[in-house]
Amino acid sequence: MMHGRRAVFSPSLFSRSLSFAALALVLAPALAGCRSRTVAPVDEDPSTTQPDAAHARGRKITEVVGITPGQREILAHRYVGADPRYRALIFFSIHGDERPAEELATAFGEWLEAHPESWADREICFVPVMNPDGLASRTRVNGAGVDVNRNFPADNWQTQARGARYNPGPFAASEVETTALMRLIERLPPQWIVSIHAPLACVDWDGPGEALARAMSEANGLPARKVGYATPGSFGSWAGVDRGIPVVTLELDQRLEPEDRERQLLGLEVAVRWDPELGAVAPVPGRP
Ligand SMILES: [Zn+2]
Repeated sequence: MMHGRRAVFSPSLFSRSLSFAALALVLAPALAGCRSRTVAPVDEDPSTTQPDAAHARGRKITEVVGITPGQREILAHRYVGADPRYRALIFFSIHGDERPAEELATAFGEWLEAHPESWADREICFVPVMNPDGLASRTRVNGAGVDVNRNFPADNWQTQARGARYNPGPFAASEVETTALMRLIERLPPQWIVSIHAPLACVDWDGPGEALARAMSEANGLPARKVGYATPGSFGSWAGVDRGIPVVTLELDQRLEPEDRERQLLGLEVAVRWDPELGAVAPVPGRP
C-alpha cells in the first residue's frame, strides 16, 4: 500500500537508537508547545505522485507528528499540489475501537494516491491513525486510558466524565495525541477539518462547518445532524467552536460494507474538493 510506506525510521529502530533520556529531550519541546519534531520529506516518490506533467510539482510529504507512550508514530501524509490555494486536514481513528473508520482510512489513502488531480490545487493533510496505541489495543481511549477526544483545552473541558471511556485526562491537553494534533493545526494551518468516527451514522459539524457537512451528507447518504449530547473537551469544541475552523465529524455506520465504502469515498471527495470561499465543491482542475 503506497500510503503505508514507512517514514525514515521505524519505532523499533527508534527505540533501539535512542535512550529514554534522549527521547525525553525530543519530546520536551513538543510538550512545551513548540513546533513538532518533523521528518520531511521522507517518501516522495515521483512515480506515484507525479503521474503526468499537469501535476509535475505535486508531492507527498510524510511527517512524524508525534510518538505515543506506546512508542508508535503518529504519521501525517501531506499531499501538496502544484498550486495549493487551500489546505485541509482529514484525520481518522482518534478513537481506536472504530473499525469502519480504520477501514475507510485505508481506502482513502489509496484514493489520494490514485487521484493526484483531486489535490493539484490544494494540500490535503491526511492522518490515517490519530490514536495508534488505542488502535493497537482496540480501545476508544489511548494508552494512558484517556479519551483523546475529551482532552482538548476547549472552553468546555471538564474533569467529570460519564464513564471511563470518556476519561478527559488529568488536565486539558495532557496527552501526546492531543498536543500532536494541536501543533499540526497551528503549523499547517488548515482551512477546514474532517474527523472520521463510527458508529452514529451521521455527518455532524462544529463551528462554521455546516455547509461542508451538508455537502458531504448529500454525497455519502448519511444525514447531516448534530449528535445532540455534550462533548466537553472534544476536538470539535476546541477547533470548531473556540477557534472558528469549520470542523465536520463524519460518523460512519457500525459496519463499512463495500458499497458503503464507495459512497463514503464520494463524501470524502467532497471534503477534498471543498472551496471554502464558494461554500461549494470546486471543479477538478483540467476535468471538463
Ligand atoms: Zn469516535
